[in-house]
Amino acid sequence: MRLLRTIGASAVAGLLAVSGLRAAAVAVASGPGKTGCREPRLQVSASPSTPRQGAIVAVTLRSDVPLERATLSDASGAHVAPMEPDAEASGRVFRALWGIDFEASPGVRRFRVEAIGLCEDARATIWQARIVSGRFPVQSLTVDPAFVEPPPEERERIEREKKEVARVWSKPPTARRWDAGFRLPVAAPLRANFGARRIFNGQPRSRHNGVDLAAASGAPVTAPAPGTVALAEDLYFSGGTVIVDHGDGLFTTYFHLSRIDVAAGDAVRAGDSLGAVGATGRATGPHLHWGARLNGARVNPADLQGLPRWRLREDEGSR
Ligand SMILES: [Zn+2]
Repeated sequence: MRLLRTIGASAVAGLLAVSGLRAAAVAVASGPGKTGCREPRLQVSASPSTPRQGAIVAVTLRSDVPLERATLSDASGAHVAPMEPDAEASGRVFRALWGIDFEASPGVRRFRVEAIGLCEDARATIWQARIVSGRFPVQSLTVDPAFVEPPPEERERIEREKKEVARVWSKPPTARRWDAGFRLPVAAPLRANFGARRIFNGQPRSRHNGVDLAAASGAPVTAPAPGTVALAEDLYFSGGTVIVDHGDGLFTTYFHLSRIDVAAGDAVRAGDSLGAVGATGRATGPHLHWGARLNGARVNPADLQGLPRWRLREDEGSR
């Protein structure tokens, strides 16, 4: 039987001070006591502490004694992410990225951080975040009517492609390949249209799942960080499409390419060519559509530029 109790108010206050979280309840579950095993003091911090819809959040767990491992999960337990030990912190610091889907409801959400001590004793703490509105704009666009009401003969193709892309998202996470903030995939300004509600030819359609970079046709598109190409083909809506798997459940997408320089399965380094900017698929003109997905959540790729530097462990770097 596990004992469940709450740690003292001063420790909670300390946690709040460090993390900037609005509120947190901390419960400690400990296994049968073992000689030499001391209860760790756990602190969770998150950056940003008040994430917008579509944000990428870096979650850090700190313990005053070494831990064996740690996991981060949503309150429902539907998604559990292993936290990664900091290579230089001897089991005292663990990290994970968490994506807030751009359609997640604003409000308070609770996440569970579970720490397993060296004596295999489990302790849990709650990370509570207030998700705020992404304040997404509304965009009215005019496109070829075939992209608003696709002709019947294209429906089979569209369905097939939808399943193919869904298969990419459902694959189990691979090892992390990136170790620092991402570059921009093309040298061009980012439009502030992530998450925009879009109206095509007067008809409301899905939100804009990415940001657009205003680049000229033919401009080179390069990998913003290391990864493996998960998909590279011409799709009905997104045109010339590349999806890169960066590991740990993080993917980036590149749409409307006029040329594709990679094939599925290719390993890419930061700066390697993926293709060229174009206006293929449902596009109003040449630009690069850049999207990102983290553990299934549709997130703002602009957040990738500010990721903390996380050194790869030796076993990751060699893969
Ligand atoms: Zn776009």
